[in-house]
Order: sequence, then C-alpha cells, then structure tokens
Amino acid sequence: MTNIKQKLPDIQENVSLKNYTTFRIGGPAKYFFIAENEKEIKKAVETAKELNLKYFILGGGSNILISHKGFDGLVIKTQNSRLRFQKNFGGQAKLKTIYVDAGVKLGELVKFSVDNNLTGMEWAAGIPGTLGGAIRGNAGAFGYSMADIIQEVTTLNKDLRFTIYDLRNIKYGYRDSIFRSNKDIILSAILKLEKGDSKISEKKIQEYLQKRKSIQPLKYPSVGSIFKNILFSEVSPEAFKKCLKLEQFRQSGKIPAGWLIENTGLSGKKIGGAQVSEKHSNFIINIGNARAEDVAILISLIKQKIRNKFDLQLMEEIEYIGF
Ligand SMILES: Cc1cc2nc3c(=O)[nH]c(=O)nc-3n(C[C@H](O)[C@H](O)[C@H](O)COP(=O)(O)OP(=O)(O)OC[C@H]3O[C@@H](n4cnc5c(N)ncnc54)[C@H](O)[C@@H]3O)c2cc1C
Repeated sequence: MTNIKQKLPDIQENVSLKNYTTFRIGGPAKYFFIAENEKEIKKAVETAKELNLKYFILGGGSNILISHKGFDGLVIKTQNSRLRFQKNFGGQAKLKTIYVDAGVKLGELVKFSVDNNLTGMEWAAGIPGTLGGAIRGNAGAFGYSMADIIQEVTTLNKDLRFTIYDLRNIKYGYRDSIFRSNKDIILSAILKLEKGDSKISEKKIQEYLQKRKSIQPLKYPSVGSIFKNILFSEVSPEAFKKCLKLEQFRQSGKIPAGWLIENTGLSGKKIGGAQVSEKHSNFIINIGNARAEDVAILISLIKQKIRNKFDLQLMEEIEYIGF
C-alpha cells in the first residue's frame, strides 16, 4: 500500500462497490480512487500501469454487473464536473455548443440545457449515469442517441496521450462507439444543442419520464436493459423461417430483446434475489439482496432459451466486471 498511497494519497482500500451501482450488487474494489479532474484521472491510470494493477473506469455504475468477488485492482471513479458554455455561445446562431466533463451526470446535463433554453437532450432525462458512460455506449432513447449531439470528444488513449475525436472518427453505431474497442478513457466532450424554449423542453421531458414510468420497473434496482435489441439486418433466413412473427419488426429495423424474452415465457423468472421483470422483460431487477451470480445465471438462461426457440443470439448491453 505504501507505494500506491504515495502516488495517490486519497486512495481508499477495500471499498464495497455495491453502492456505486444502480443494481446495488457487487463486491469490493481492492483500491478505489475518486478522480475530480482529468489530471487526477491521468495520474490514477499512470499509477495503475506503473504498479501493474488492473484498472477500471467507473461512471454512474448504471450499465455494469460487478461480481461478488469484486474487482482485484484499482477502480477509478470519474467525478470531473466542469460544465460550461463554449466561447461562441452568445449571438443569434441556432446551434450552441457546450463543454462538458465526462463525470457530469446526464440528469445534470439535461437540467443545464433546459435552464439555458437549449434543446436536443430531452430524451436523456431519466437515464442514470455519466456523460462518459453515455458517450462510450452511445446511450439513447425515443429514437435519439448521443451521436446526435456530439461535436467532439477528448480522451486519454492507451499510451496516456490526450486525443481528440470528431463525430466521424467515433464510428457510432447502435449502442456502440470506437471507445468500446479501443478502451480510451473519455475525459470531456463538446456537445451541440439548439436554441429552444425551456417550457417546450420541460413538457417533452415530462412525457418521456411518464413513458419510462409506465413501461419500466423503476421501483427496483436495475441496470436498465440487459440485452441489446437485435438488428433486423443481422437475422438469418433460418430464424425468419422458424418464427414468422419476426417479420412484424421489419419496419422498425430492430427485434426487441424484451419481446423475445416475453415469448420464451421467462418474464417473472426468479433466481435468488434476481428476477426478470414482468413489466419490462429486458430488465432484470434486484428484488432483495441479489448476487451477481443470480443475475449471471438468469442472463445465461435467457440466452440459451432464445437460441433454442428463435435461433437468435442475444448480446449483452451491460458490461461484466470482476468475473
Ligand atoms: C433505470 C435505467 C434506465 C436506463 N435507460 C437507458 C436508456 O434509455 N438508454 C440507454 O442507452 N441506457 C439506459 N440505461 C443504462 C445506463 O444508464 C447507460 O448505459 C449509461 O449511459 C451508463 O453510464 P454510466 O456512467 O453509468 O456507465 P457505467 O455503468 O459506470 O460504465 C459502463 C461502461 O462504460 C465505461 N465508462 C464509464 N465512464 C467512462 C469514461 N469516462 N471513459 C471510458 N469508459 C467509461 C465503464 O468502464 C463501463 O465499461 C438505463 C439504466 C437504468 C438503471
């Protein structure tokens, strides 16, 4: 510990990660460090590399399943929090740009945009987590996603160099970006929003939140959708032959994972303290002291049943940590 403590004096040891995830599941981190700015993020990663420690970047913990064993390395929680207008903010131009640190919560960002009569972020109301996590996974809802509002992203790459990506270089896809594969750490972004009217934005937000409340099991801890929907274009002819009902999703372009799960009869299925939600079958909820293993068993059961019944392979939207 001496070594690491010298380099990161505020580091904590043996910290339970449970309360840093929206699932309320997970064992301890061997080392845990809250990085308040990008210098601290860099310092923490440098330290981990020097000491040959595994490290993991934690945002809001709303898209991860942490094992009961926890994480045997350094967890770096991003809490860099600058959020400000870009210099060009004034004037009559329709498009406005803002600078945001990766540790800013999406909810704060939505509030900031509405308070400043900006439109373009309303769809993100109700999505927990940080900007960094949302950029990496191209978070989205109601037909919009991060790709619609990103102008530029600054990262720390694997050689610890600051790198700037414009929208084209991020290679955004459905819940996908280059950052999933290159493992860059997202430090900040410039977002482009439009001049709007806060009253109209607030109305939209209330509608979106209402919609979420009506279809999602928000009373229980969860990590949102467990699986990605399946892109229609990736479905094999055999699968269509096996289930003619899949045709109904041609127009939307995606086969909802929730629909598949419902149709295998797994809604409501419980393992230990984890349950496939009856309200939204693509959510697994923690109904009381669920262990990561309970969730992992449910996930594997769902995947197996869907393979057998539909010849389709579900892919997780969430990440596994410490398995
Ligand atoms: C009730 C509920 C509703 C949800 N609704 C939606 C929805 O509508 N749409 C949607 O897309 N998602 C939704 N989610 C899932 C989740 O909120 C999003 O995926 C969110 O963007 C994850 O961000 P996070 O900061 O919590 O990431 P985390 O869970 O902390 O991390 C997820 C991954 O991102 C990586 N990461 C985090 N920060 C950084 C960074 N700065 N640089 C590099 N990598 C980083 C982590 O290492 C990890 O691999 C929902 C979740 C819940 C619980």
